[in-house]
Amino acid sequence: MNTTKLQKGLDRALCTLFPRRCIYCGKVVVPERQICEDCETNLPRISAPICLLCGHTKSDCVCKQKKHKFKAVCAPFYYEDAIVQAVHRLKFENKDFLAVPFASDMAECVRREYADIVFDAVTFVPFTKRQMRVREWNPSEALAQALSEQLRLPLEPLLVKLFETKTQHNLEARERTGNVFGVFDVTDVNAVAGKTVLLVDDIKTTGATLHECAKMLMLSSAKAVYACTFAVTKRDRTER
Ligand SMILES: [Zn+2]
Ligand SMILES: [Zn+2]
Repeated sequence: MNTTKLQKGLDRALCTLFPRRCIYCGKVVVPERQICEDCETNLPRISAPICLLCGHTKSDCVCKQKKHKFKAVCAPFYYEDAIVQAVHRLKFENKDFLAVPFASDMAECVRREYADIVFDAVTFVPFTKRQMRVREWNPSEALAQALSEQLRLPLEPLLVKLFETKTQHNLEARERTGNVFGVFDVTDVNAVAGKTVLLVDDIKTTGATLHECAKMLMLSSAKAVYACTFAVTKRDRTER
C-alpha cells in the first residue's frame, strides 16, 4: 500500500469516528470534500455586480438613498438557507475553526469589490466585557482575525462596546438604530486617525450596527471605513 492510499485509509477511519461535515450546513460529507454537493450548487451567493450601499446583488438592491457612515459594504452570502446554519454553527457551536474558511469567502469579496482600496487595518464589531466572559470569544473578531491574516493586514481592536443591547436580529427595523445608538466607542483616538479601516461583522441586517461603529471611527478622524460581513439579510422592498 503506498503512502497516499495509506493516508486515504487513515482519513476514512478517522472520518468514521469523527465524521467530516460540510463547513456550511453541517451535513456529513466524504473525507475528500469540505462542502456538500447541495451547498456547492445552492449556496445563496451574492453575485456581482453588487450595490455597495446595501450589499445586495444590484438587481435585489433595496436602498432608499440611506446614508451610512461606512462608504461601502460587501458580503459573500445572503443570510438564508445553508448560510443560516453556517452562522449558527460558527456562533453557537463554538466552531471557531469555521472562521478560517468563512473568512476566505469574505477575502474573495474584499479583493473583488475593494480592489483599489489600500487598507491600514482590519477591525471588528466588539462584544462588551460581560459578553466576552459569557461567550468566551467573539465570532466577528474570529472572522476579522482570519481575514486580516488572509489579506496580510494588521488586525486592530479599534472599538469597544460600552453597554449590552438586545439582539438586533429580534428587533423591528425601526428599533434597531436606537438600540445601538451610543453603545460603541473607540479604544484610542490616535490609533484611528487617518486610517482606512476594514470593519468586520458576522451579519448585516439594517446596517445600523455597522453605521454606529463607522460613525465612532469617523468621529475619531478615520480616513474612511469600508465594511465586510459574512452574510447580509436579504430585504425586500416592502420593508423599511
Ligand atoms: Zn452543505
Ligand atoms: Zn442597494
